[in-house]
Amino acid sequence: MGHVKLHIPGPVEVSEKTFRAFCQPMIGHRGQGFKDLYASIQPKLQALLYTKQLVFLSTSSAWGVMEGAVRNLVHKKVLNCMCGAFSDKWFDVAKRCGKDAEALQVPWGSPIRAEQVDARLATGQFDALTLIHNETSTGVMSPLAEVAALKQKYPDVTFIVDSVSSMTATKIEFDALGIDVLLAGSQKAFALPPGLTVFVCSPAALAKAATAPDRGYYFDFVEFQKNAEQHMTPSTPSIGHVYALASKLEDIFAEGLEARFARHRKLAEMTRAWAQGHGFTLFPEPGYESVTLTCVNNGARPNGRVVDVPKLQKLTKDQGFLIDGGYGKIKGTTFRISNMGDETEETMRQLYAALDNALKQL
Ligand SMILES: *Cc1c(COP(=O)(O)O)cnc(C)c1O
Repeated sequence: MGHVKLHIPGPVEVSEKTFRAFCQPMIGHRGQGFKDLYASIQPKLQALLYTKQLVFLSTSSAWGVMEGAVRNLVHKKVLNCMCGAFSDKWFDVAKRCGKDAEALQVPWGSPIRAEQVDARLATGQFDALTLIHNETSTGVMSPLAEVAALKQKYPDVTFIVDSVSSMTATKIEFDALGIDVLLAGSQKAFALPPGLTVFVCSPAALAKAATAPDRGYYFDFVEFQKNAEQHMTPSTPSIGHVYALASKLEDIFAEGLEARFARHRKLAEMTRAWAQGHGFTLFPEPGYESVTLTCVNNGARPNGRVVDVPKLQKLTKDQGFLIDGGYGKIKGTTFRISNMGDETEETMRQLYAALDNALKQL
């Protein structure tokens, strides 16, 4: 059997053009060739994230920088906003780093609301906050701008935001939002192979990191800044990823940011309509559905039938498409369909046709 196309929410399908870019011959990471490469993409990364700060490249998956953010920036106590598997895990990671951490837990399917965050930050106990913009396990997008607005009220709290499955798919204006750290791994909406994380820090976050004696080396944010000023990374980067990112940024700006954001929104709406058209309901609280993936409830449909999710996956896979069977404690009671990266209305329709076909056989 040939390649099964990925419609799981990461890693997602990687284009031929991206692969070709990834496979260019190696260059030295301290040489002019690499510096020119990084310097050439820096303005595009800044435009993508709406920032004047230098954008950093970490050879790690997102968790490396998520853990790094805790080590650099939690000096007193962190409030971990939790609404699904990834955001819940960040609390665990903070504790594993030996940090004082508190959980702000909401039920899976709900977003994180600004009022809830405000109430906890008002206690004055915290110097850092973690928030996942798009909780990939539940398909919920939290209202980032509303939470970020609290930064004005709590300027000494460092706002650390994971946009792993939303960066490039929706507008996130880093400087205007006033947040302190924004990060994303390459295998989600960037549609690159896994192994690279793109991130940016506010000047305040970098100044604060510089005062942390135990921030380590590999994810030392101050090292990233010093090196980025010279168009380099602290240690040897995955150069193939940087080539691939350069190619992807060409694609992103050829399409145009607004068009890319609109495309993701439209494709997610199409997937929701497909699911609802088959009598399914959606897992996220209405109004907070992600623009990059759809988390579908596998509840009883009007025809009285609950779907055997592994079987649905198998029947869809036999037609060349991989969907996800639900994550963590909602595995099997939900399933997820990704529309992130390079998908189009046409490619999504091909997937829906395969899913229709599979449902008929269940
Ligand atoms: C995928 C994902 C992560 C973790 O990424 P890794 O690549 O496994 O490190 C973190 N946060 C969110 C929201 C994700 O979707």
